[in-house]
Amino acid sequence: MSAWCCVVIMVSTISTGVLSPAPMNAEVKEAYDRQYWYAQAQETLQKRLQYATGKNPVAKNVILVVGDGMSLTTATAARILRGQRRGQSGEDTDLVWDTFPAVALAKTYNVDAQTGESSACATALLCGVKARYETLGLDAGGRFNNCASTINSKVTSLIDWAHDAGKSSGIVTTARITHATPAALYAHAPSRYWEDDSRVPPTVRRDCKDIALQLVENEPGKSINVIMGGGRRHFLPNVTPDPEHKNREGRRLDGRNLAEDWAREKKRRHLRAQYIHTREQLAKLDPRTVDYLLGLFEYSHMEFNAERGAIADTEDGTHSEGNAKAEDPSLADMTRAALSILTKNDKGFFLLLEGGRIDHAHHYNNPYRALDETLELETALLAALEKVNPAETLIVVTADHGHVMTFGGQATPRGHPILGSDTVPSDIDGLKYTTLLYGTGPGHSEPRALPFNGTSSMSVDAVHAAAVPRQWSTHGGEDVPIYALGPMATVLFTGVVEQSYIPHAIAYAACLAHQARRCMETAFNFTKPQIKIPSCVPPEVSSVSAPDETRNDASNGRRVIVASSVMSDERGTRTSAVAPLMTDLYLIIIALYFTVSAAKNSLSESITSGLNNEIL
Ligand SMILES: [Zn+2]
Repeated sequence: MSAWCCVVIMVSTISTGVLSPAPMNAEVKEAYDRQYWYAQAQETLQKRLQYATGKNPVAKNVILVVGDGMSLTTATAARILRGQRRGQSGEDTDLVWDTFPAVALAKTYNVDAQTGESSACATALLCGVKARYETLGLDAGGRFNNCASTINSKVTSLIDWAHDAGKSSGIVTTARITHATPAALYAHAPSRYWEDDSRVPPTVRRDCKDIALQLVENEPGKSINVIMGGGRRHFLPNVTPDPEHKNREGRRLDGRNLAEDWAREKKRRHLRAQYIHTREQLAKLDPRTVDYLLGLFEYSHMEFNAERGAIADTEDGTHSEGNAKAEDPSLADMTRAALSILTKNDKGFFLLLEGGRIDHAHHYNNPYRALDETLELETALLAALEKVNPAETLIVVTADHGHVMTFGGQATPRGHPILGSDTVPSDIDGLKYTTLLYGTGPGHSEPRALPFNGTSSMSVDAVHAAAVPRQWSTHGGEDVPIYALGPMATVLFTGVVEQSYIPHAIAYAACLAHQARRCMETAFNFTKPQIKIPSCVPPEVSSVSAPDETRNDASNGRRVIVASSVMSDERGTRTSAVAPLMTDLYLIIIALYFTVSAAKNSLSESITSGLNNEIL
């Protein structure tokens, strides 16, 4: 072991020993947690940029495609289902993202949780900062359900960064527009469940706006060009019947109709805006005359693709009394409309395209819908690719977190139905089992049962077996894939990265916010690849590669940027800081120490609160 390694271990040990009894100023720690993730992303970026060449194109447009809960297993199974629907064996089929040139893996843990949760994962994926379980758009200073903790913990998102660059922006999702993933782009909340004011505790309603209200009243929400998804109930007063489901009212207690308020605010600013809530209205839309579009197509989430155009189900799965038709537009319909508006801006755009219900189907242990929704997401991406030029558009496809679905079989033949059962029963109990199984969830039964009779495997509602009974399945904690196409994709999206690195890499490719600097420089000066295998692994420090890479940089006489900027909710407060090597190292070690100790304190509290809140 080299002497350098010993120093790292010593510093690590000393800092832990010395610092553990001393409580750190809360404000310093809050700022520090944010800085840590920015610095972490910057270091990863520097590593990736060692592969850059003289040609470093700039992404004018960005499309970030998120399959909520789209684990690698989900992507593999969906690929096979796609092929089998075409009458092929399926295993050798390619989904469109399988053809992308760049692939990486993202670590999805949260600041205080081993297995990622959607809003905290979305904060990492869209704001570049890891967050606490069930908080939204806040760094680690934000505490669950604690309104006061949001004051200094708000972080900016890819949409803020895109707006600063003069780009248009859009969100298209099949989930509620106020749901965890889309909300992380525009809202800051100590609880992802504060989607309307009825869920915000009365004592803090004046200080902490609900998520829907932030979308309509605050930046960057009120400047987003295209907003499409479900969730009307959070925009309508509790005395106003839903236009589609007449027997249900909105949920707002403040008496406001936020859809109307949204349109009124745009009119006041002389902006060309339109609010719609049906598929017909979307079909009739003339994108040449609309620059701002709010489409809320469902009371809650949009229907699963399997239900579109069929009898609508209520949220708990039972048929609604009104037998309302669920005539929701498809994700591809919404994507085409969104791009028709967004592509009008010469400066480009940022679009989040979310398949929000893959996750929900998995929570029910229902792989049919999970795979079907994944294929709908692929169809939407294919629609997008028809409208953009990949030479100037960075497309990144990933998931917020995984799920506990497994895929396996004992000598199951090629082309065997992916939703079917293994051809060989269990050698222990002699019972059959499906190829796709779950670790946890409602599919558990004793004795184990197949979700269908005989060999038929095409039941839309089939609930596959789970090892452990739970009302809903848990998420999966494994890494999720990142597929990328477009400017700088092959440089930026390789290897195993923190999820919070992704938006920083996107910002680099598109020259956004704190990564805009390279576009202002006349000549690029990237060094030749100098990749070295780390020669030692300091114990107790998980980011082992960082110190070694830092050492390499130091031997070259280069300095590593610690935190190129710290983003605040207020515009115009961004600063750059460059610190010497050992300060970097020391700060990283301290950050790791405090991240770990803070996680210990709040984990049990967060998980307990999570159990009391419906994850869907
Ligand atoms: Zn989930």
